[in-house]
Amino acid sequence: MQCWAYKDDGSICGQPATEIDAARGIAVCQEHRSIEPGLSACIGCGCDDKHACWDDVAERPCHWLRLDRTAGLGVCSACTGDVERWDRGDRTMAVPR
Ligand SMILES: [Zn+2]
Ligand SMILES: [Zn+2]
Ligand SMILES: [Zn+2]
Repeated sequence: MQCWAYKDDGSICGQPATEIDAARGIAVCQEHRSIEPGLSACIGCGCDDKHACWDDVAERPCHWLRLDRTAGLGVCSACTGDVERWDRGDRTMAVPR
């Protein structure tokens, strides 16, 4: 299994892969696993990219109101009450994971 991530010059990495990157659906090596962090979780309800919760107001799966890909955290559209504390810099999870 080889790493299928693209390098900066556009070629395939090709190094021995150490894991599958679920977000991209490809095998990646240690070096390329962190370029696109995987899932981000909502600090209000704990939903993530792969497990969106239901937004009752919009009547569709939630989307991100705030998102910090580096931290792997965000606030989804079902948790509008958590946007304020996010904007204050509070990134603690309200629910235990
Ligand atoms: Zn690689
Ligand atoms: Zn949420
Ligand atoms: Zn959600």
